[in-house]
Amino acid sequence: MRDHQEGAHDGHNGHNGHDANDARDAIEQAWNGVVATARRTATEGLVVGTSGNVSARVGDLVLVTPSGVPYDRLGPGDTVAVDLHGNQVLGVLAPTSELPLHLAVYRHTDAAAVVHTHAVHATAVSTLVPEVPLVHYAAAMLGGPVRTAAYARYGTQELAEHMLAALRDRTGCLLRNHGTVTYGSTLDQAYDRTAQLEWMCRLWLTASSVPGHTPSLLSLAQLRDVQDALKGYGQPG
Ligand SMILES: [Zn+2]
Repeated sequence: MRDHQEGAHDGHNGHNGHDANDARDAIEQAWNGVVATARRTATEGLVVGTSGNVSARVGDLVLVTPSGVPYDRLGPGDTVAVDLHGNQVLGVLAPTSELPLHLAVYRHTDAAAVVHTHAVHATAVSTLVPEVPLVHYAAAMLGGPVRTAAYARYGTQELAEHMLAALRDRTGCLLRNHGTVTYGSTLDQAYDRTAQLEWMCRLWLTASSVPGHTPSLLSLAQLRDVQDALKGYGQPG
């Protein structure tokens, strides 16, 4: 895949040639990561079929899964890239209909990757509460208690705005009656945050479904204590 053609660029334009190659390599690498992460959301049960979508930012480009193509059919030649305004820059396949949601995250945060899923436990919780109850300190990894964004139809700017409000000081949120959004500085980090969020929602549903019992919850002070510990020691226990 890498095709530097070192000898071909040693004329007057050699330096720019290398820069162009580096940019192409970065885009190709990010695209492979986007496809691998999208496949992972399907194989690990966070989405069914082609629901959900994944993106990664490379400079001023956003690489994003296309609309309606099964992830196992996406290859290296199918790169879809848009600029931060949503204008398509690379590829012929149409970007996901949730593009406004991805672009809103990149325009308002330092995210390098965004994962959107319809993970079943998280989506179930999105229909029940405005904020995921603090059943576990894993919420600290998402910046605090995870909010549920108000409902708006998929693909709309309105949904993107509701999502931004729910994401304030957080790296993930639920979308009411819809799914999840998380972001991170890498695709793996964004994916792991989705997996943690789904797990935490499953945990709450499990604990709160025992008849005659109500789960105990952490206080905000206890969560803050965990956030401080995470800053100090890096690794959660
Ligand atoms: Zn969706």
